[in-house]
Amino acid sequence: MQFDSDFSMTIDGQAVPGASTLGVINPATGAVFAQSPRASQDELELAMASGERAFKLWRAVPFAERQQKLVLIAERITEHAEALARLLVSEQGKPYRDAHAEVLGAAWWCTEVAKMTLPVHVLEDNATLRSETRRVPMGVVAAIVPWNYPISVAFLKIPAALLSGNVVLLKPSPFTPLTTLKIGELLRDVLPAGVLNVVSGGDELGPWITEHPGVAKISFTGSTATGKRVVQSASASLKRVTLELGGNDAAIVLPDADIPKIAEQIFWSAFTNAGQICMATKRLYVHAAVYDALAAALVACAKKVKLGSGADPQSTMGPIQNQAQYQRVVRLLDDIAHRDQKVLIGGKQSDTPGYFIPVTIIDNPADDTPVVTDEAFGPVLPMLKYTDIDAVIDKVNASPYGLAGSVWSSDPVAAAAVAERIASGTVWINTWLHLSPLVPFGGHRQSGCGVESGLEGLLEYTNAQTIVHMKAS
Ligand code: NAD
Repeated sequence: MQFDSDFSMTIDGQAVPGASTLGVINPATGAVFAQSPRASQDELELAMASGERAFKLWRAVPFAERQQKLVLIAERITEHAEALARLLVSEQGKPYRDAHAEVLGAAWWCTEVAKMTLPVHVLEDNATLRSETRRVPMGVVAAIVPWNYPISVAFLKIPAALLSGNVVLLKPSPFTPLTTLKIGELLRDVLPAGVLNVVSGGDELGPWITEHPGVAKISFTGSTATGKRVVQSASASLKRVTLELGGNDAAIVLPDADIPKIAEQIFWSAFTNAGQICMATKRLYVHAAVYDALAAALVACAKKVKLGSGADPQSTMGPIQNQAQYQRVVRLLDDIAHRDQKVLIGGKQSDTPGYFIPVTIIDNPADDTPVVTDEAFGPVLPMLKYTDIDAVIDKVNASPYGLAGSVWSSDPVAAAAVAERIASGTVWINTWLHLSPLVPFGGHRQSGCGVESGLEGLLEYTNAQTIVHMKAS
């Protein structure tokens, strides 16, 4: 199998080259390096019809057999992890070792979800009747995925949806469709036809899917603005929706934090994947007692970063994934310059080809400026000095976002007390981005609704069905 050419969609177990194609850009060069299929509405109809047929069969496949299929998916992905990771680097931009970890993480997620079961709750059991609630699948689940973690995000959704008896229509971002298409191709002989259809296309494809009456549930990960459009569109046929959206996560460093111990972790909480993570630290509140020490340590970390193509083994940070996002971050840098905000390091885009922006750290900007209030989704971090923890918690919770956050301290009790007051879906203490198939995560307020992962995430791919058995009198 070729991993650098011949990209096709997977519809009903078959390769579909697409009515037309879209160029895919390597963000390290800014040049088109491959063509991906651009689905027509007719091709989407084929995929939907295939999914609806497959659902009738797949939902009846014994649970243990569906678990086994997830293990086979994991094995197939693992066998081809190197080739998939190289392709992911070319389209997404991240360093190879991160891409490889992303691919292997997807396989691990399948293996772990395969160990889960769906509960049956007995509600009443007496001389007259027995009532129980069990979980039943919904139908065709549309999995809509962004460009920052194309494979991780897809595999937050696929194993849970398939295990619970749904079929999946997977749509990658038009910016990063290729690795996803190849995974679809790899799984054609692992899953029955129609159980996993993979369709790629332009900006028109997402709305076609969310409007389609045959879709039972939408699991969407992307920006808050798009999430709102998805909900509007889903309302026509009351599709179920899970939304994982944007964030403006805060890290709060308490005065007793051990700066030399935590500085590097805090640094990478903001700059992993060039800051293109929904759950990246996007505001760093640091107590005045340790502010200067942490600022110096973060600048030292920044100086060690090797910014470059993800294909270069020396690179530790890649480019911004696409031109539109690059321009958004450049506009933010222009705003920082225009306001004369103090830059500790960085502040200007690179003048090499590709969408490169160096690590940029801003020294104590005003609270109401865009570098603090907006989701940069790039390697730009505001450090904010505080002395009053209550005021900080109010500022953190005043954001329309409530995705995640972190607290850093040598005192676990003090840290937990702060964590419990942060109004977000996840708070990490002295760590960051601990995600696991066992742990549900999701956003509060405009960071989303519903959760992915864990038993709660699995249940979101099901409907509750209560059965009441009358007993013979
Ligand atoms: P986006 O909202 O532009 O696109 C996400 C996906 O939705 C893409 O596949 C896109 O093609 C599709 N889409 C676009 N318009 C659509 C429409 N009207 N109807 C249906 N689908 C549509 O987001 P992006 O720029 O790809 O990703 C960056 C954003 O995603 C950031 O805000 C980031 O915080 C967020 N994100 C959130 C999480 C999370 O788990 N909460 C994870 C990763 C990224």
